[in-house]
Amino acid sequence: MQYIRDLKKYYWPKGPQDAVRLLMQEPLAEIIAGGTELLVSGLKGREVNNLVDITRAGLSYVKKDKKYIKIGATTTISELQNAPLFKDFACSILSKAAGKFVSVQIRNAATIGGNLGAAMPSSDIAPVLMALDAKIHVCGKENKEFPINGFYISKRKTVMAPYEIITEIEIPLPAENVKTGYAFEKIGRTEMDIAIVNGAASITIDASGEVKNARLSLGSVAQNTIRCLEIENNLLGKKLTKEIIAASCENIAKSIDPKTDVRASAKYRGTVARVIAARLIEEAYIKAGGKI
Ligand SMILES: Cc1cc2nc3c(=O)[nH]c(=O)nc-3n(C[C@H](O)[C@H](O)[C@H](O)COP(=O)(O)OP(=O)(O)OC[C@H]3O[C@@H](n4cnc5c(N)ncnc54)[C@H](O)[C@@H]3O)c2cc1C
Repeated sequence: MQYIRDLKKYYWPKGPQDAVRLLMQEPLAEIIAGGTELLVSGLKGREVNNLVDITRAGLSYVKKDKKYIKIGATTTISELQNAPLFKDFACSILSKAAGKFVSVQIRNAATIGGNLGAAMPSSDIAPVLMALDAKIHVCGKENKEFPINGFYISKRKTVMAPYEIITEIEIPLPAENVKTGYAFEKIGRTEMDIAIVNGAASITIDASGEVKNARLSLGSVAQNTIRCLEIENNLLGKKLTKEIIAASCENIAKSIDPKTDVRASAKYRGTVARVIAARLIEEAYIKAGGKI
């Protein structure tokens, strides 16, 4: 593991453009937010002499307008957990996922932008943001936005250039009079551990109970958090029963690529993924108002 051994400069940019300028002018610079990943898990082969701390760059907020909820990148996991807005939004899945995020000490420091920027497959936040169809706003030479599905391109890599930073996460508000249910689940060795498997779902139904829209995302079962598109498509147009859900999840092995590590074997992850996927779909369907 490689750590910062020779820290030369520590910057506190006043805004995102200032942070990007520093990252472009200092090639051996890295962004730091909560530091819970960067300082603990090391630098993964990069040489870093300068840190650009973005926690004073005006990116800590949760706000809502007519169409979106907007979360600033340096909003902490504790702030997500405790924001009144998320207690009532989308069956509280963001608040619930934040509450399952290891310990209060880590939650108080770790940020949503750092969680997405670290691109860990075990992120507890990414599956929820996929179920919510979130977009990620990025500042670099120009401002860009990416759907979260497609933000990760390979193991611990995102679509961002090294000098770009996540500024905001934007969650669309569901249309009125639409019946949508949501669910989140995390399985770990203990309550204070990262996930063996986690996941989230959102299911929208019409008045007859037919599925009109489905999102199912899983973490820790591939090199990045994934959407299970085949399962989602299988659900469309159907009134769900336990049998239909079980059959849709039967071939989940086609969607995932789990690995063995100290926490679990690939085989165990595959089995848990199938069980969790079915539970998430059932819970989201029932919360949307569907009858099983
Ligand atoms: C003991 C322990 C337990 C943990 N448990 C969990 C858990 O249960 N669930 C979970 O999901 N994670 C967990 N983590 C991982 C980690 O805490 C999270 O990924 C956290 O959200 C990282 O946020 P941070 O602000 O601390 O990021 P930092 O450590 O500051 O940064 C992480 C990476 O992201 C980059 N980065 C930071 N902010 C941005 C930004 N705005 N734009 C672009 N890149 C950025 C940094 O350059 C760095 O490469 C755990 C970590 C530890 C040490």
